[in-house]
Amino acid sequence: MMVERLVSMGIIKSERVRKAAESVPRELFVLPEYRDQAYDDRPLPIGEGQTISAPHMVFLMDELLDLRPGMLVLEVGTGSGYQAATIAEIVAPKEDPDSWGHVISAEINPFLADFAFANLRAAGYSDRVSVLNMDGSQGFPIRKKADRILVTAAAPSIPEPLINQLAEGGRMVIPVGPVRGFFFGQDLMLVVKSAGEVKVEKVIDVAFVPLRGKYGWS
Ligand code: SAH
Repeated sequence: MMVERLVSMGIIKSERVRKAAESVPRELFVLPEYRDQAYDDRPLPIGEGQTISAPHMVFLMDELLDLRPGMLVLEVGTGSGYQAATIAEIVAPKEDPDSWGHVISAEINPFLADFAFANLRAAGYSDRVSVLNMDGSQGFPIRKKADRILVTAAAPSIPEPLINQLAEGGRMVIPVGPVRGFFFGQDLMLVVKSAGEVKVEKVIDVAFVPLRGKYGWS
């Protein structure tokens, strides 16, 4: 139902993203009191003043990332862990044990980091998603560069450490702008690194919770 609608809206375009949307049980990533609304196309509260993104936003960003099996993906803002699970479903599909893709996701709030880890374990993704309780705006404690980076909280500008951690040919999707109102006010940006150049392109207007931490809003 949810997936068919997102396909007909033109949000879900690829077979990979469609399969991910069909595979990950969103009801395992929402609070018990919202379980009956798990497949509504809207954000839902997950505690600590944060939200799980609306399905259309999750899959719009998954499509923009142009994910492939085997990729290393970094996420800033694990929240519920739902989007990380959808990414893992594409970069490390269970039926292809040779796809050693992995998602490393940073969550600054310790309660949400625990919530996400528990959700990912219950849904069967804890072997393909690592949750780190840290400020992801400062970059990740790994030496390998990432194929893809996703930021799911709105930043004042694109954090330099994340640009530096993006591999040649890599892509980053990140909302940029202040938190003004309920709708709009921020730009969803697509960042592409190729031939030593960083190209930045605005995709659409969006509304995300603010990025915190060193390169976030104070
Ligand atoms: N991707 C999530 C939605 C995340 S909401 C999902 O699928 O459910 C944004 C999250 O970013 C919040 O949980 C917030 O605590 C977290 N966050 C904000 N600033 C951060 C930072 N600097 N580092 C890591 N996480 C951050």
